[in-house]
Amino acid sequence: MNGLMMDVPLSTSGIVRRARQLHPGKPIVSRRADRTIHRTTYGECVDRAVKLAAALRRLGVRRGDRVATLAWNHWRHLEIYYAVPSSGAVLHTLNLRLHPDDIAYIANHAEDKVILVDKVLWPLWEKVAPQVRIRHTIVMADDGEVPSGTLDYEALIAAESAGGEFADVPERRAAAMCYTSGTTGKPKGVVYSHRSLMLHAIGLALTDAFRLAERDTVLPVVPMFHVNAWGLPFVCGMLGCGQVHPGPHLDPTSLLELLAAERVTLTAGVPTVWLGILQKLDSAPAAFDLSALHSMVVGGAAAPEGMMRGFKERHGLTVIHAWGMTETSPLGTISRLTSHIEQLDDATQWAYRAKQGRPSPLVEIRARGEKGLIPWDGTAMGELEVRGPWIAGAYYHADDGREAFTEDGWFRTGDVVSIDIHGYVTIQDRAKDLVKSGGEWISSVALEGALMGHPAVAEAAVIAVPHEKWDERPLAAVVLKEGATADPAELRFYLMDKFSKWWIPDEVVIVSAIPKSSAGKFLKSALREQFRDRYGQANPSLRGLSRSS
Ligand code: ADP
Repeated sequence: MNGLMMDVPLSTSGIVRRARQLHPGKPIVSRRADRTIHRTTYGECVDRAVKLAAALRRLGVRRGDRVATLAWNHWRHLEIYYAVPSSGAVLHTLNLRLHPDDIAYIANHAEDKVILVDKVLWPLWEKVAPQVRIRHTIVMADDGEVPSGTLDYEALIAAESAGGEFADVPERRAAAMCYTSGTTGKPKGVVYSHRSLMLHAIGLALTDAFRLAERDTVLPVVPMFHVNAWGLPFVCGMLGCGQVHPGPHLDPTSLLELLAAERVTLTAGVPTVWLGILQKLDSAPAAFDLSALHSMVVGGAAAPEGMMRGFKERHGLTVIHAWGMTETSPLGTISRLTSHIEQLDDATQWAYRAKQGRPSPLVEIRARGEKGLIPWDGTAMGELEVRGPWIAGAYYHADDGREAFTEDGWFRTGDVVSIDIHGYVTIQDRAKDLVKSGGEWISSVALEGALMGHPAVAEAAVIAVPHEKWDERPLAAVVLKEGATADPAELRFYLMDKFSKWWIPDEVVIVSAIPKSSAGKFLKSALREQFRDRYGQANPSLRGLSRSS
């Protein structure tokens, strides 16, 4: 058909050109490793990104080459975010919380050509370096000195002359890649295209999603090495939001200081970060002026309703709950109340806010149980499947994880969910974390959420422990708030009026800390290992049996 719209590629270059043209003076604030504050602007950031791209070209980086980073969130990492994809190369953010051997495996698997590393992370990189084939090592230092045999990031930029801008990149080319954490098997590469990053950025901005606008100032606590800081650097550049980056300082006090001082309006991270922040705020309610903050987006693991309520009722702060994965860019579902739910009573509204929410526009969902697709009745459970233009269609090596993709083009998430009549998803568990007791599923997520609603509980993780009679039984590991007391019997009793009797964990064990994954989530595999032999051998004969049968 003639007379169609222009076929302008959706490419990150468009975001970067727009940032320099329309909001060159908007601030980008970062905390350095020595805790001092660095301030720059989009104008300066893009000027330096253009020079960085030229320097990388001079080092031999070509279209499609992987350029890795090992860095905290700060202005230089943002420059790399803008420079690498927009010049046609592929940004590969390495997760600095992984074991050096895993980082090496991932860098080799991705065939990274260049690495840009924070000087403060040099001791880590030294353990990785002998195991990888990387052509150039560029170090980002605040003191002007870099280890011998490496290139100085600042010197590379200083050597380039100003001028030039990023041309469009064909939209279906690779722009960035991240690896899954590998908690289930080897880490797998997820490759984002220019088109997927751009569409995802627009999706994030929507009023029913993150509700972002030019007037916002955004602090991603979520690391730039974790699903592209959930796409925030791209949507912020697109809209002109101010950005605030915490560097390596992710403790509650450092974050609260930045949120207050920089008048941050939206921040985002995993629940364990917010659990710590809530405790800090509860102990010092007037110490931080958070009056500018309109949204704290929480995702990556289930946000307990008690935490969401605590922020609102005690501090006037709004938590927005979202679900996603590395494979979903990550925005999959987000819990905003529809006009219908807003008419319902308070308790129902809270229950809805604590769900994972409805799929973003352009994301379709369905869930599959043992007998096929499940009805959207809020009770049937099945594995969530998703499709959409920012959902992975395959892993980087197509043979990896082939079973995650259905024949009709949906991605199998490995999350067990129910979906209600309004399309709100509730994650009951990751398939591998489900407790199967006497042939029936028990949701560890629901039990954890309830336990974290107890006033004495700071953190709770529920795991399946092999059991000689029931195959598996739930056990809760609980960390108490500082100075709080509660005994295990009281905590079990607290759950009694909320769940059927057979859901109540056989034991509540008070622990001093719950092990965390590289993304700050509860590391249930470590707990499962610790309590493995508690209730005897598993009884697999019960698998597949229904408790009601
Ligand atoms: P990993 O957790 O393996 O490091 P991802 O960041 O890709 O890697 O994690 C995605 C998983 O995190 C999802 O499959 C889901 O199990 C869990 N998840 C993400 N968001 C939520 C949420 N809001 N509630 C419950 N679980 C979540």
